Amino acid sequence: MVKICCIGAGYVGGPTMAVIALKCPDIEVVVVDISKPRIEAWNSDTLPIYEPGLDDVVKQCRGKNLFFSTDVEKHVAEADIIFVSVNTPTKTRGLGAGKAADLTYWESAARMIADVSKSDKIVVEKSTVPVKTAEAIEKILTHNSKGINYQILSNPEFLAEGTAIEDLFKPDRVLIGGRETPEGRKAVQALKDVYAHWVPEDRILTTNLWSAELSKLAANAFLAQRISSVNAISALCEATGANVSEVAYAVGKDTRIGPKFLNASVGFGGSCFQKDTGDTRETPAIDVCKGLLGDKAQISIYDPQVTEDQIQRDLAMNKFDWDHPMHLQPTSPTAVKQVSCVWDAYEATKGAHGLCILTEWDEFKTLDYQKIFDNMQKPAFVFDGRNIIDPEKLREIGFIVYSIGKPLDAWLKDMPAVA
Ligand code: NAD
Repeated sequence: MVKICCIGAGYVGGPTMAVIALKCPDIEVVVVDISKPRIEAWNSDTLPIYEPGLDDVVKQCRGKNLFFSTDVEKHVAEADIIFVSVNTPTKTRGLGAGKAADLTYWESAARMIADVSKSDKIVVEKSTVPVKTAEAIEKILTHNSKGINYQILSNPEFLAEGTAIEDLFKPDRVLIGGRETPEGRKAVQALKDVYAHWVPEDRILTTNLWSAELSKLAANAFLAQRISSVNAISALCEATGANVSEVAYAVGKDTRIGPKFLNASVGFGGSCFQKDTGDTRETPAIDVCKGLLGDKAQISIYDPQVTEDQIQRDLAMNKFDWDHPMHLQPTSPTAVKQVSCVWDAYEATKGAHGLCILTEWDEFKTLDYQKIFDNMQKPAFVFDGRNIIDPEKLREIGFIVYSIGKPLDAWLKDMPAVA
């Protein structure tokens, strides 16, 4: 039986390995992590991350061919294929601070693999890393190899949080990069055989190592460009009276451009790229709240998926520390006193001057906005950073509404009546 070990039981490692275990009953998969609470949660009924369909997949194979463990070294030593899916956050100090990826976690994982391995290994880069990381990792491994052969593969992950299971079941493509040597090709084939259990052959792309590493960064850059472009257009819409939803629809109808990733919003966040779930890393909501706190606002926050502890932590931290997992952070920040967290949207808006919608939870579309209006101070403002409410309906209630990329209240007043 082929044995897979994945280092890092996070948003990528957990769901990806669960799907591999489900689709490959002939493979034993162990996901390891240095975080005891995270592993305990993976072994409990309350998984550490929320993804539609994930519970089901984990329940079907946990204890059969899917295991979660903190015994990192034992399972790394026993594995044939080791995925490394540790976090690669933005550097907070040193050269490239605020821009470059911090590869500390990756490097310590690679050194540990070199220390404990007693048999040949295929080491798979799952984390998003700068191009040529595989070469650096290869050096660490081969210079400490004790005669063991290592093949490094790049197999970047393209899943999006919120649709991880769907994306893993039916990926647009699986990308595998390896060395262009007989041993490299053999390793690529071994990983291809794993995915071939459920991914059609024409969707498994094989390239050289550097193309695979660069493709992931290039794909992220293209996606970011689309969102940044439509956000820039939304500012023009607000200034001219055009409606960004109409403009994006018209532009996206061009088959050369396509309709996806053209929603204007307050911006995108996420450790890797874009996040809509309980994962708050680098969410623009933090920037907005910090700006308001700087102006001495009292903020009452409601999010159906994020705990008060996480919110307080995010607001107390410096930018880019957000993406360093809690258990790896040296100090615990103190709570921000201007912030209160509540468990109900109506409670959050009671007595407020303004309501900011910063995450597109479905329940925000169907709130009783009349009730909210009645309990807010007047004039009552709504700032819809995700374009999920109908500005006209809310204006009828009496709100002053600012929606990203939509004509502003003032515009409507100035507009001549249409016969
Ligand atoms: P994460 O922070 O949720 O999980 C990483 C885990 O690795 C943590 O639980 C941490 O404790 C563990 N870890 C760190 N060092 C370790 C070590 N030496 N030994 C054992 N465990 C260790 O991160 P994530 O969101 O799963 O992302 C992982 C990688 O995948 C990152 O490079 C990210 O950029 C990339 N990625 C993320 C997404 C996404 O949507 N989250 C999508 C594509 C790619």
